[in-house]
This record gives sequence, structure tokens and C-alpha cells, in this order.
Amino acid sequence: MKTTVEETLLSAIRTIPDYPKPGILFRDITTLLGNARAFRRAVDELVHPYAGTKIDKIAGIEARGFILGGAIAHQLSAGFIPIRKKGKLPHDTVRVAYSLEYGVDEMEMHRDAVQPGEKVILVDDLIATGGTAGGACRLLTQMGADIVAACFVIDLPDLGGRAKLEALGVEVRTLIAYE
Ligand code: AMP
Repeated sequence: MKTTVEETLLSAIRTIPDYPKPGILFRDITTLLGNARAFRRAVDELVHPYAGTKIDKIAGIEARGFILGGAIAHQLSAGFIPIRKKGKLPHDTVRVAYSLEYGVDEMEMHRDAVQPGEKVILVDDLIATGGTAGGACRLLTQMGADIVAACFVIDLPDLGGRAKLEALGVEVRTLIAYE
């Protein structure tokens, strides 16, 4: 029997209760990445609306966004931009503070990673509150990127991240949701 993309992905993702702290259900995509069929289906499904569209760059958020974003960049013949936690990039950077569940942190991108007007897709594994992806969108916008979409395998809609990005005018694409 043919399984749907949702079924394939849901069965390939592992949920770890109380990680990294009590009360959190951690959606672990390492099992999806280790499953050749599920990994390919996730990447194909994220890519297909943009096949034939000129995308200059994929921006991946450290760390799981690097794995998915690298595969997506290859499929779309696009370049790749790493968005990293502060202090990890060796050249001139732009930095932004973003909110986490408790407190704030900072992320960076190389100043020359994107040229004004370049078409960029942002990629991460999961969107929860949207604090992380919202910060990445601010960095890209600050450098003049044209954000075509923000793509995630997993949406946690109760935490409102998708709505937050859409309110900024960013198109959001997700493959599965955990209510
Ligand atoms: P947020 O900034 O709240 O949208 O959180 C998204 C970031 O935190 C992503 O980089 C995710 O990888 C990670 N994250 C947040 N919540 C979870 C969760 N329940 N399971 C796995 N990763 C999560």
C-alpha cells in the first residue's frame, strides 16, 4: 500500500518526552535523517513548489537546518548560507538577538553571504514559537534578501510561529503538524 508523505514522515520522527527539560516533547528528526526514503521524501516535498523557480540561496539555521538546507540547495541548484549561533563564523557578520522560550540569544550571518535582491528560502527542521526563524528573517531582510518562503518539516501550531512569520509577510511551508 502506498503511504502518504505525512504517514512516512510521522512514522520516521521519534518523540522524546521531557527533553531537554521536563514537559517538552522533543521531535527528534535524526531517525528521519537516517531513513533514506523518509529523508528523500521530506526534501522532495519541501522542494517541489520551487522547482523551475530561480532561487539564489538557501539559508539554513544551525544545526538541523544545515542538513535539510544543504540537500534542498543541491536540488534547487542554489547556494547555501549558514545562519549560526554567535561567535562561530570567521568573517564579518551581522548579528541579531532573538527570543527563546526562556530568555534571548543571538545569531549571525556573514555580511557578504547574500546580495540585495537575491531570492532566498529559509530552512529549519521545526517551527515552534517562531523566535528563531523570525530572527533569521530579520537578518536576511537587513541584508536586502528577498525571502521567497520559510520551510520546515514540522509545525507546532499551538505555539504560533507560523502565524508570526506570516504576519511579517513571509510565506510559510510545513509538511506535518503536532497539535
Ligand atoms: P522556536 O524559535 O520557538 O520556533 O523554536 C524552533 C527551534 O528550536 C528550531 O531550531 C527547533 O529545532 C528547536 N525546537 C523547538 N521546539 C522543539 C521541539 N519540541 N522538538 C525539537 N526541536 C525543537
